[in-house]
Amino acid sequence: MHSFSTSHITIDPVQLSILQGKKITLEVLRLDKIHPLVSGNKWFKLKYYLEQARQNNNTIVTFGGAWSNHIVATAAACRHYGLMCIGIIRGEESPTPTPALIQAKELGMQFIFSSRADYAHKKIPEEFKQKTYCIIPEGGYGILGVQGAATIAEHYTAAGFSHICCAVGTGTMMAGLILAATNRQTILGISVLKNHFDLMDSIRHLTPGLQIQSSINHDYHFGGYARMNPELIAFMNEFFRLTGIPSDFVYTGKLFYAVNDLLKKDYFPDGSKILLVHSGGLQGNASLPGGTLIF
Ligand SMILES: *Cc1c(COP(=O)(O)O)cnc(C)c1O
Repeated sequence: MHSFSTSHITIDPVQLSILQGKKITLEVLRLDKIHPLVSGNKWFKLKYYLEQARQNNNTIVTFGGAWSNHIVATAAACRHYGLMCIGIIRGEESPTPTPALIQAKELGMQFIFSSRADYAHKKIPEEFKQKTYCIIPEGGYGILGVQGAATIAEHYTAAGFSHICCAVGTGTMMAGLILAATNRQTILGISVLKNHFDLMDSIRHLTPGLQIQSSINHDYHFGGYARMNPELIAFMNEFFRLTGIPSDFVYTGKLFYAVNDLLKKDYFPDGSKILLVHSGGLQGNASLPGGTLIF
């Protein structure tokens, strides 16, 4: 079992050809280096839930799909702290489990498969409503998740960046970055879901009253959650060749592609200092056919 360490986090400057002739800098916050499974933002989003569960010696109960990074990360973090954990998984159990479920099971997570209808209502089985369980909502969405995600900002100097860009699933990480931002910064989220136009409302719900410049771009989902095309894969390979930084096709590949494209379209003004949050998720590439990626 690898140990977690936020001391592995670095900020890597990147040189892309699109930056030539522009007075713009681009750097990547490498949260992917924390741990191979509990990588990136998942560690931050989970940390206060885990702290609470450890104090009360609770069993963790959480929710996710069969491909969920959150499920794997929760299983690995619970193993690390010796906490029991149960994953309520969307849909019927498949005879061929996904790499995520295989990993989570190896890490000791128990599963309850929930019909799509029950799952949609996030129905909590009666026995878990007792105090001995700590329920973590899907993706860590909730105030403890946001407060944990806000501590990502301890790993960069706020004054150094005009724009902070991240991939958005539930919006919990972005809400945390907004919570930690100064009013001279802009937080830009790239949605990896198709037409999920109420995301900004979910984020405002978690950051009531905060007046930080922030927006979500919905143009780079590549067909929807976990969808991709050869152009995205080619970009991820090229980005790795140029920078040595690997990305995943569900989240960070789309983020990097989007920012490169927005630079092409002169979206960012001269003088921008852009920080890209590499939120991890690399183990998700295991579901691609071998040889698709050069890393
Ligand atoms: C889960 C995940 C996200 C999305 O985080 P939210 O807080 O749900 O928006 C982004 N990047 C990676 C790599 C993830 O695994």
